[in-house]
Amino acid sequence: MGELANCPQCGELFVKRAIDVCQKCYQEEEKKFEKVYAFIRKKRNRTATMYEVSNETGVEESLITKWLKQKRIHPSQAPNFNYPCERCGNMISEGKLCSNCSDSLKRDLVDESAAQQVKESSNVTTYYNVNKN
Ligand SMILES: [Zn+2]
Ligand SMILES: [Zn+2]
Repeated sequence: MGELANCPQCGELFVKRAIDVCQKCYQEEEKKFEKVYAFIRKKRNRTATMYEVSNETGVEESLITKWLKQKRIHPSQAPNFNYPCERCGNMISEGKLCSNCSDSLKRDLVDESAAQQVKESSNVTTYYNVNKN
């Protein structure tokens, strides 16, 4: 089942399914993806940075970043593709967060569930010491 949404690229109303843009923009994106993919497949382009690839193919860096996050482009295929971590802005080449942020996020999650346990047992006299480390 899809829901109606406005295409973030062109504003067209479309039924949102597995893809996040309308059919027309999706096809545009696919063409761009093939262009970028063909480019980085060439051995001599292996060391190209995202900026260079974007320049050569005319494809926006934001789109290339999206494919990296979706893992359509694997870091091993483009070792010099870097983009900022969504949390702190450190340059990364894989996933959405740098290792620091994903580590601290994991810790936060653990802390939260521990805090939840403390809350749930607060009517009991036992006190849980939440270990922040
Ligand atoms: Zn569109
Ligand atoms: Zn980070």
